[in-house]
Amino acid sequence: MSDTKNNYGFTTTILHNDRRKTIEQGSLHKPIHTSVAFGYGDARQLASVFQGKEPGFRYGRQGNPTVAALEDKISKMEDGVATLCFGTGMAAIGALAQALLKEGDHVVSSSFLFGNTNSLWNTVAGQGTEVSFVDATDAANVEAALQPNTRLVFVETIANPRTQIADLARIGQLCRERGILYVVDNTMTTPWLFRPKAVGAGLVVNSLTKSIGGHGMALGGALTDTGLFDWSTYPNIAPNFRKQPPAAQGIAQLRAKSLRDFGASLAPEAAHHIAVGAETLALRMERTSANALALAQMLEADPRVAAVHYPGLASHPQHALATDLFRAYGSLFSFELKEGIDCFDYLNRLNIAIPASNLGDTRTLVIPVAHTIFFEMGPERRASMGIAESLIRVSVGIEDTADLVEDFRSALP
Ligand SMILES: *Cc1c(COP(=O)(O)O)cnc(C)c1O
Repeated sequence: MSDTKNNYGFTTTILHNDRRKTIEQGSLHKPIHTSVAFGYGDARQLASVFQGKEPGFRYGRQGNPTVAALEDKISKMEDGVATLCFGTGMAAIGALAQALLKEGDHVVSSSFLFGNTNSLWNTVAGQGTEVSFVDATDAANVEAALQPNTRLVFVETIANPRTQIADLARIGQLCRERGILYVVDNTMTTPWLFRPKAVGAGLVVNSLTKSIGGHGMALGGALTDTGLFDWSTYPNIAPNFRKQPPAAQGIAQLRAKSLRDFGASLAPEAAHHIAVGAETLALRMERTSANALALAQMLEADPRVAAVHYPGLASHPQHALATDLFRAYGSLFSFELKEGIDCFDYLNRLNIAIPASNLGDTRTLVIPVAHTIFFEMGPERRASMGIAESLIRVSVGIEDTADLVEDFRSALP
């Protein structure tokens, strides 16, 4: 299998791309390289690697062969030019602030966000970068918030937990016209359901902890450069990285500042676990999306349920957009029980679904959102994000559909 042939399908590519590199003892999986240091027989070669004149590994914090193999897989999944892996998804998002923003800059972010990302932007705002939160389901709100010092626009594809969908293509168009870096968090859709490159994203975020790993056994995150953004126009690239070709400047600065200087590196053991999980991403997303649709349809039709939020339902405000952009509607939905039905009692009656905080696991997980992951932000911010106090988030697993439907139905009072 040659390195240049790249017209294989998604899963074939993920399974076999390691073999396009040198095979180490015929090993079908990339070995776990635990060595922190990399020795060179010729001291001049060591110097040359440090000076970036030839490829090679310097020190585990900046890169490792097992992590590099996963980075290569994710680049192929996202059709990107380069990927950096991080210790967690939050480290990948934190790297944006750490490596790409300065005091006096401005960020426009969707207000429908993963709770910890919301908290991170508030931290960034306290350090001298202005952050505007907007309803990104309409690109006009993003446009109205843009300023001359806006450095990046940040959105999630399907927001967790209310499943609002950003006006992805129009925001991409706007960013392209204004020359602004467009960052899309693709965690909820994964590159199997959607490639943000298709709507003009310059950088793509993935929490590898979720569906890409899929087994809930390793934390990880990634930033992928799609090659669409012209880094030569980005004001915050330090002179040292301007020496690189324009296409490589963003990733070079991100690698140096967030991995080398900040140490947000992914461990090789975790990279290995994630790479194994990633092989079945497409299969799992098809199964979990089908299960989520069946559950959402059953709950929506039941009089004891007040609301169901899932892009696969015709009642979802962005159903048409989701149908247009995504291969399926994903594994996440949320719902509200009718007043008078206690959400804790309901969750305790479930036999299969587990009360736990994670997403994209093979097992179905449920969580009462306002009392847990969105507790800290308080009722006002929750209300502004459309989060009812009784909202239950469901991360649907790969269990048999009939078993799941029966579990959620029979737990209704
Ligand atoms: C979980 C999640 C993150 C953070 O990822 P971690 O790996 O848990 O740090 C970021 N964005 C979204 C949309 C997520 O669901």
